[in-house]
Amino acid sequence: MAGWVTTGRGLTTVSSNGETSVRKLRILHLYPEIMNLYGDRGNLIALRARCRWHGIEPIVEEACLDDPVEFTDLDLVVMGGGQDREQRLVARDLAGPRGWRLGNAVEEGLCLLAVCASYQLLGVSYVTAAGETLPGAGIFDLTTEPGRGRLVGHVAVAVGKEGRVLAGFENHGGRTFLGPGGKPLGRVIRGYGNNGCDGQEGAVYRNAFGTYLHGPVLPANPWFADHLLALALERRYGTAGLRPLDDSRERAAHAAVIRESLVDARRRRRERRRSDREEQATFPENQEAI
Ligand code: GLN
Repeated sequence: MAGWVTTGRGLTTVSSNGETSVRKLRILHLYPEIMNLYGDRGNLIALRARCRWHGIEPIVEEACLDDPVEFTDLDLVVMGGGQDREQRLVARDLAGPRGWRLGNAVEEGLCLLAVCASYQLLGVSYVTAAGETLPGAGIFDLTTEPGRGRLVGHVAVAVGKEGRVLAGFENHGGRTFLGPGGKPLGRVIRGYGNNGCDGQEGAVYRNAFGTYLHGPVLPANPWFADHLLALALERRYGTAGLRPLDDSRERAAHAAVIRESLVDARRRRRERRRSDREEQATFPENQEAI
């Protein structure tokens, strides 16, 4: 029977029939050069660091448009945000074998985190600001279309029954709407989320997570980083076995983002009140109606 041992170097090892080996996780950063906005690369830095602190050996690889990828060997795939121009290239890539191979791997339980532009492209379709429809990989049941103005600011999102809070930064022109098979990642507390209307943020399908949260999201939300690692470990080794870490710095970063989300929310309220007043001044008949 397999068991868990912590060695002198702090590495957790699995012991099976007397043999021990360090647990490893294979993590792929997909499209690192072209899909990497607002520090999304920091998600990889956080995952690598937390793996080491948990005594897991991270094997981090990168793959861009033409690099071969064997999704079945992987434990976790991470994709970042990008602009419409780059999204066109990635959409074309995902429309080929890479898209359905990634979809099959997600069906088999592969753990995945997709931020903003990547999240949009893992839906059914993405309509660019210029009105061009890009096909998505169809992993999440959602569509994205352009709206008036960009949705920008710090965000706080309640996730799961316990309402654990994810904090981050969003900047997107696309409005995402979940289809009947779509499940949101969380409920917006402050900020816009998927579309600024229905209070939903992100999407979850099996072990795949899509979100609009940059920041980067994982360094300031260590519980979410560990959730991804735990899912990947459970899938590969049958158990996660993660111990709590000293996350005081990460918690301070989280609190700072939450404070910024409050500042942004107040600023938006002030702007709304001012624009309502201006509208009333421009159309005096509105005042009579009130
Ligand atoms: N181009 C997309 C949009 O504006 C995604 C932007 C991003 O990744 N931040 O909606």
